[in-house]
Amino acid sequence: MRSLLIVDDSPISRKIIRKLLPPGPFDIREAGNGLECLKLYQEAPADLVFLDLTMPGMDGFETLERLRQIDPQAKVVVVTADVQTRSQERVKDLGALVVIAKPPKAEVVKLVVERFCS
Ligand SMILES: [Mg+2]
Repeated sequence: MRSLLIVDDSPISRKIIRKLLPPGPFDIREAGNGLECLKLYQEAPADLVFLDLTMPGMDGFETLERLRQIDPQAKVVVVTADVQTRSQERVKDLGALVVIAKPPKAEVVKLVVERFCS
């Protein structure tokens, strides 16, 4: 089964991504912060990670960097309201597959899952 890890400090944002997923089945786990994300990923890698950038404590940039150190093949989609070009370039440099804007659209979530996790 395809496994997803949804990382966002907002439970509502995590729920929105869940609701917009194309038909599964998926094994879905959620993390409310960067450390929890790394812990869950180390317990069992996920096929695709949805990652928020703005989180208290370890932000999405650092989480992404550490995640890719743990697994250089980790597939990460950044979901953020931060549309600054510099932030987008930075996450691409850190190895994110794509950046999608908050609030995410159903078609976009469906496309990234089909493209990167099929
Ligand atoms: Mg956030």
